[in-house]
Amino acid sequence: MDLGLAGKRAIVLGVANRRSIAWAITQALGAEGMRIALTYQERMEDGVRQLAEMLDDPILLPCDVQRDEEVAAVFRAIDERWGGLDTVVHSLAFAPREALEGDFVNTSREAWATALDISAYSLVHVAREAEPLLTKAGGGSIITMTYLGSERAMPGYNVMGVAKAALEASVRYLAANLGPKGIRVNAISPGPMQTLAARGISGFTDMYKHAREVSSLRRTNDPDEIGALAAFLASHHARGTTGEVHYMDCGYRILGI
Ligand code: NAD
Repeated sequence: MDLGLAGKRAIVLGVANRRSIAWAITQALGAEGMRIALTYQERMEDGVRQLAEMLDDPILLPCDVQRDEEVAAVFRAIDERWGGLDTVVHSLAFAPREALEGDFVNTSREAWATALDISAYSLVHVAREAEPLLTKAGGGSIITMTYLGSERAMPGYNVMGVAKAALEASVRYLAANLGPKGIRVNAISPGPMQTLAARGISGFTDMYKHAREVSSLRRTNDPDEIGALAAFLASHHARGTTGEVHYMDCGYRILGI
């Protein structure tokens, strides 16, 4: 199926290394012929530059979503270079390590604020900066990454579950707000995957093992299938869906026990 993405322009926030979900999505979008801009946190720069060598003429920009001037500079640079944008992939999250272990009841105000700022507010901020560029392109697609811990209590996921609930609500509000401009906003919810961010969650190994053993398909996600769903959501084939959480979790969420 031709997704019609050749020559279109995507920015992907959240590549840390080759295991990043953002990298799987980048490869899928690149394979469809999209032009790619990647952003990285400073400490990830070397690794991301190496990965970017596999892409055709990428734009590479530093972006810590807690630094307003960096977020603004990213979209200014893209406007200067491309003059518009078709797709935004937001694949990033963070919570202080101590908040991802132990009792949720002990979550500090500071950890709560940091987790929600980086993992949820950043989507609203990025959408606001991207909107003029997406509008210039006649509309576009914003895609973010979430997890079932938003609606169910998972061991050790703690404040990140609260942040994902806020992220999913933001997807719905952004979709309603930006829909009249032809901008769609969707979230992908995979099962547990072995990435750098996942290693910071104290209960992750158990979540991963459990998902592999009991999910309907008796496996966890391949990064490529998440990339394929993101490419579909970026494409005109998905033009009728917005404000949704798209589960691709090998049939875990549908189970009763
Ligand atoms: P990852 O560690 O590869 O990616 C997380 C990214 O967040 C990194 O690139 C990191 O640089 C970025 N980040 C953190 N703080 C930032 C900040 N202040 N500014 C800019 N970037 C920042 O891990 P991943 O698993 O690929 O995570 C990507 C997304 O997928 C996250 O939203 C995560 O919650 C979500 N997700 C992951 C899983 C899983 O099991 N791995 C499951 C469902 C959803």
